[in-house]
This record gives sequence, structure tokens and C-alpha cells, in this order.
Amino acid sequence: MSPTPTETHCPYCSLQCGISVVAGGAPATLQPQPDFPTNRGGLCSKGWNAATLLDHPQRLLYPLVREVAGDRSSPLRRASWEEALDRVAGAIERSQQLYGSDSVGCFGGGGLTNEKAYAFGKFARVALRTSMIDYNGRFCMSSAATASNRAFGIDRGLPFPLADIAEAKAILLVGSNPAATMPPAMQWFDAGRAVGAQHIVVDPRRTATAQGSTAHLQPLPGTDLALANGLLHLAIRLDLIDHDYIASRTTGFEAVRAGVSSYWPDRVERITGIAVDDLYRTVRTLAGAESAMILTARGAEQHSTGTDTAQAYINLALALGLPGRPFSGYGTITGQGNGQGGREHGQKADQLPGYRKLNDPADRAHVAAVWGVDPETLPRAGLSAYEMIDRLGTDGGVRTLIVLASNIVVSAPDLNRVADRLAALDFLVVSDIFLSETAALADVVLPTAQWAEEQGTMTNLEGRVIRRIRALPPPEGVLDDLQVIKELADLLGRGEYFSADPAEVFDELRRASAGGIADYAGISYARIEAEHGVFWPCPSEDHPGTPRLFAESFPTPGGRARFLRVDHRDPAESPDPRFPYVLTTGRLMAQYQSGTQTRRVPNPAQAQVQPEVQLHPDLARRLDIGPADIVQLTSRRGKANFRAKITDEIRPDTIFVPFHWGGLSAANALTNAVLDPHSRMPAFKVCAVSAAKIGEP
Ligand code: SF4
Repeated sequence: MSPTPTETHCPYCSLQCGISVVAGGAPATLQPQPDFPTNRGGLCSKGWNAATLLDHPQRLLYPLVREVAGDRSSPLRRASWEEALDRVAGAIERSQQLYGSDSVGCFGGGGLTNEKAYAFGKFARVALRTSMIDYNGRFCMSSAATASNRAFGIDRGLPFPLADIAEAKAILLVGSNPAATMPPAMQWFDAGRAVGAQHIVVDPRRTATAQGSTAHLQPLPGTDLALANGLLHLAIRLDLIDHDYIASRTTGFEAVRAGVSSYWPDRVERITGIAVDDLYRTVRTLAGAESAMILTARGAEQHSTGTDTAQAYINLALALGLPGRPFSGYGTITGQGNGQGGREHGQKADQLPGYRKLNDPADRAHVAAVWGVDPETLPRAGLSAYEMIDRLGTDGGVRTLIVLASNIVVSAPDLNRVADRLAALDFLVVSDIFLSETAALADVVLPTAQWAEEQGTMTNLEGRVIRRIRALPPPEGVLDDLQVIKELADLLGRGEYFSADPAEVFDELRRASAGGIADYAGISYARIEAEHGVFWPCPSEDHPGTPRLFAESFPTPGGRARFLRVDHRDPAESPDPRFPYVLTTGRLMAQYQSGTQTRRVPNPAQAQVQPEVQLHPDLARRLDIGPADIVQLTSRRGKANFRAKITDEIRPDTIFVPFHWGGLSAANALTNAVLDPHSRMPAFKVCAVSAAKIGEP
């Protein structure tokens, strides 16, 4: 009899495609679930190859510690869990005795289950009593989250199910390339276009998504805000706005009307490079459609003006009366598998579970009561991800850092600075499934369970809470992060507050989130399995969940959405004679985030995908660069080398590199760590570089 398949989900992106894993023999195999609502039988190459991670020969199977404790130049050697965790607990106690509670920091990941994200946040506040916790989702979509909170009073990536995309008659897609990053999602876009929907893609590159769209606008990176304000200017001038909606459902429009009055089409063309005619066509398409969506992603959001840029598109959506209308609205396409849930339940510096605020007395009291602690003992909000990294090892900074599921040596901006800061730490602990670039620097490395070996929940880009179900046990000697958190809490004398059982942790999370914005109180493991996931907010077990938000009102104090005036500012770094080109970064189809997992997949097609720099033929000619030449890019912060790919799909003044690699091809050695002032998101998407050929194929 063949083993029964286990229905779980892909380990990677926020689409969280449904996967059936057969794990009775070795190795495990997988198939897409034909009826799971986001992928309906589709998978991308990353998902198809995910089972190869489970018994990968480079898998970490036991803890590693430094041969000489305290000497990070000595080699890593195998250790027992007892020895490894004793070293970690000892380092925590030493740091906190010498430098205080905040000298221990926690850095989480957007791939952790909700249960792990919740437990890690609680571990920081209850076991360590440190304010220093944040996660790599801060690098991912915190700007759109901040803007959505400001405007709508809630942050859920898409406020409608993915399937609504197929019904929208017009879509403006800004800085997103789902055809490469989450191909199964394209079935919804394709279905819409097949019945005449107009899709306008805004991207400096003519990506696969742009090539399949009905129109493509190709702006200079860092000018998306000016584009949105220019479109709103035109919508007002052509009287295409929804006066009734603005009057009855929003506040603050008059200030925005005044703010966009100077965004005349010719000025917007000068800033963005988008022709005036295209501006008119775009706004008429959006305003003339019976239903329309405006969707942003990292291309628009990872800027020093990221929050204001997302707000500018929200302003446009509100002026056209879209949010809450059927098959319409504003949304952001999240990136990481649990980028959404990861920030809802306490991994973020300023948040408690349920999206409660750490600095709000009532929120503190609610969560403290669930945790059985005195609210006065809970720390205040701490530093954001990059700010914490930037102060590692300094007076008042973190001295001992615990990293779960994150490879900051590849994924953070200005990597040379990051490497210096990590070297200044007294102690670094990394939990991962492989010896990532960050784990290789650690004092202690902890091997952890991975996707098909764990129980828990994830929250996808739609706000749909789904089940990750264990198909096979982790290899002998490998512990789940929940077990590690519990054992460390035991060693620190706070074990009574923690459980290693995911079901118990989820039940506690439900109570902690009850009444909050991200209310999971009515969501149970059984319901998720029976209903193909449940959309939050879901305040009680007889509540159906909330696939669509804003139909009646917005969760703001007055029930109205908020316009907010925002203005274009030049990127924090612009080209100059020394660094004459705009660099932008992004993803390739075969790779995921820092590449810790996908760079190890033993699939020839994936292995062939190498770090490449995309250059326009005009620029390549000027620099005497030919196909596959080795090109060195230099910014004010560092250098990195890539193979040239010469393509007219990119603007002649812009250079693109993927960010999946570290070492000599680390895109983030070049990027600028300037932060958006509202979301504290780094400006990954624009910096100034020079380029030179340093080798031939
Ligand atoms: Fe689906 Fe994303 Fe996994 Fe690809 S990476 S299979 S799109 S969840």
C-alpha cells in the first residue's frame, strides 16, 4: 500500500501553494494540490524541487560550536544539544549581567510559522525581557504595511482573495513581477486578460509580467510616487474621481488635492520618464473600468520614500473609489512565505500578538494577562532590524544575537557594514537548516526542522491562515525551533511560560490575538483543514472569516479611510560622475530570497542560474561589455562581480542585479542602508554605481 500523502504547503513564497507530500519511502516526493485555491495545481520550479531539501547532503544534522569557546576564528565542531544550549544560555546571562537586558537581541524570519514567530516574540519579552527583537520582514514589506495602517487602520497584504484578480477589469501593477516570483499566481491575471481586462505594469524592466500585460510603463527607479501623484492630478483635472465615495468614506482629500496640483503631466514625464500620453491612457483605463485594482510590491516599496509611495497609490485608489468595491481596491503582494503572519504576532519591534501595539497600555495588559506576567515587566518597543544590526557590539547595542531562519549576511543592505557589526558581537547564535553565510560566522549553530517536518500555521498574501502539516519527522538529532525556545527558556529559569507543542502555542496565540486587528480567535487547526484556510479577522468559531475587507467601513476610529498628502523626493542617492548609473535589485525565478535553500537544490536548471547583471545594449556598448563578460559594479559601500546579460528589456540608464548571492556577487554589498523614516525599511531598490568589465567569458 502506498503511503498516504500529507497536504501541506511550499516552503517558499507568500502564495503558499498547496502541496501533497508522500514521505513513506526515501526520498520524499511531492505533487501540487489540484484544488488548493491559490495555486490550483500549479507550482513553480522552486516548489517542484522543495523535497530535495529534506535529505540534502549539506543538511545540518547536529549542533555546531566553536572549537575554542569565545574564539570565532577557531573551527566549528560537532556538539551535543546540551553543550550548545548551555553555551547559548551562558552567553545570554553574561551579556545581561554585564550590559543589561537589551544587550541580547533576537532576529527572526518571515519563513517561520505563526507559532514560532509568536513564541520567539514572547521569548524576547518574557524570557529575555529585551526590547531588541525584529525580523527580516522589515526588509520586505514594512512600507506597505505602515501605509496601509495609516490609511485603512489595518495591514493585510491583499484585502481580497487572489481569485478576485481574475474578475478585476483593470489592474495597475507597480513594481511586481509575479510571472517570475510566483508563476502559479499568473493564472488569475491571465484569466482576467482572457476576458478583456486591461493590465498595466509599472517596472523599469520589461519583465515577463510586463511582456504579458496590455501596457507597460518603464519609469526611472525611485519615481513611483511622482507617477501616482501625476495620475491622481489627472484624475482630478479630468473629473474622473468618485466624489460620493470621497465624501462618504474618506477624510483628508482636500490636502491631497492641493498636494498633487503641481504634478502636471509634463513635470511627471520629466521625473519618471513616462510619456504624457501614457499617463492619460493609464488614468482613463483605471477610472473607466467597472472594477479596478492597484497593486504594489517591493519595486515601489523598498525606497527611502517607500511608505509615502504606497500611500500615494492608496490615495489614487481612494480617489477612484476602489477600496471596498467588488473586485477592486489597493493591495500589496507580500514576498516571504509568512511575511504577513510573521509580523502579526510579535516578532516586530513595536508589536505584540494580534497586531497589538507594544506601547499601548491596554494592549500590553491584554497580552500580559494571556502570558501570566505583570504588564510592567514587558519591555517597550525596540529598534528596527537594520538599526539593531547597525549598533551590534556598540555601547548600548546588542552583544549577544540570536538569529532564527534569516541569512542577514546576504539579505541586509550595505553588507560590509553588516559584517563589521556581526564581528563586533560577543556571541552569535544562528538556527538554520544549512550552514548559511550567517551561520558560518556563528559561535553556535543550531540545526532546525524544515517545512515538511513541522506543524503549525502560516498566513499567506491574502490573509488566509493555512496549516503546515508534518509529513515526516525531522532527522534524528534535529530539533524544531519551538523545542529550542522552550529548552532555552528552561535554562534561563522561565520555562513555565513556554510550550513546545505547536497546537498549544496556537491556542495561546488565538487568545493573545483575540480582539486585536489580526484576530485569530475563531481559527482552529480543524477549521483550517476543513475550509482550505480561514481569512483573518475571525473573532469567533462561528464567524466565517473575512476574505474581503472594507465593504462597509474601514477599521479606523471614524470608520473612514485616510488620505494623506505625500510628495516626491529624489532617492537618497542619485547618479553622479563617479557613480553614474542607477542600480536596482530583485529576484530571479529559480532562486528565493538569500538563496540559502534554492542555491543548494541539485537541479541542473536551477544550478545553471548564476548571478548576472542586466545591462541595456547601449550601455554595454559604451562600456565595451559583451555577453557573459565579468562586470564589476562599485558603489560608495562596496564592490560585487556579475556575468553580463545584455538585454533591451531594461532602461539604458539602469542596471539590475539579483540579490540571491553573497560573497563576491553580493548585490547587497552595493545597496544603501538609508531607511524609510516611517517603516524603517532600507532603500534596496535604488543606489548609484559605476560599472567596468574585469574579465571575459
Ligand atoms: Fe508556489 Fe511560491 Fe512555492 Fe513557487 S515558491 S511553488 S509560487 S509557494
